[in-house]
Amino acid sequence: MSGVGDLGSRVAGIRDRIAAAAARAGREPSAVRLMAVTKTFPPSIVEEALAAGLTLFGENRVAEASAKYTGLTDTCELHLVGHLQRNKAAAAAALFACVQSIDKPETAEALARHCAAIGRRMDVLVEYNTSGEASKSGVTDRDTLLACLDAVQGLASLRLRGLMTVGPVGGDTLEVRRSFRLLCRLFEEVRADRKPEAFDTLSMGMSGDFEAAVEEGSTLVRLGTALFGARA
Ligand SMILES: *Cc1c(COP(=O)(O)O)cnc(C)c1O
Repeated sequence: MSGVGDLGSRVAGIRDRIAAAAARAGREPSAVRLMAVTKTFPPSIVEEALAAGLTLFGENRVAEASAKYTGLTDTCELHLVGHLQRNKAAAAAALFACVQSIDKPETAEALARHCAAIGRRMDVLVEYNTSGEASKSGVTDRDTLLACLDAVQGLASLRLRGLMTVGPVGGDTLEVRRSFRLLCRLFEEVRADRKPEAFDTLSMGMSGDFEAAVEEGSTLVRLGTALFGARA
């Protein structure tokens, strides 16, 4: 694996690309957070990433995140970006600053119960499947989206921070943009209609499409391979 120097220059290059994409859309670069997605990479990558100045991390499985980040969650901000099974809600409540992948009212309720039991409030995003690909998790229709928003907003131990999506895999530029525009439009609608207290996070954009996502309004890009190289 690469040394910290290599990672440091890759981080700088990515920050430049985010800033350029933001500028093209008339946005401030500081409006976009950079998340390092460390799934499948060894725990040592987290140390390297911290040394390179990264502070926001994502994992997509609770057990892997727990093995890698226990003891580190005071040093960094860790989000779950993969699907949450209800039987992992207790572990998730104890570990993550934010769960980005709420797509069922029942999952929100389970997570809320465990957060309340340990006396904390957790940030959550509702995941929307903007590409319609069956392999993806996330809400696929408006009614379920509204049911998830109602559930989260009715649960005192959760705080609705925004929406998340995974763009179409290998999609052409038009499909990718259509997907991001759809999420951005839903985000603006929810903000206008419901006025959640701290609704500020539009999580979209991965290694292959983060510049398009920033141009379409993303406030949080989730990068794995662009930072750390190909996953095994
Ligand atoms: C793996 C993953 C990422 C990062 O993917 P890259 O293409 O390696 O940047 C981002 N978001 C989610 C939900 C993921 O599962």
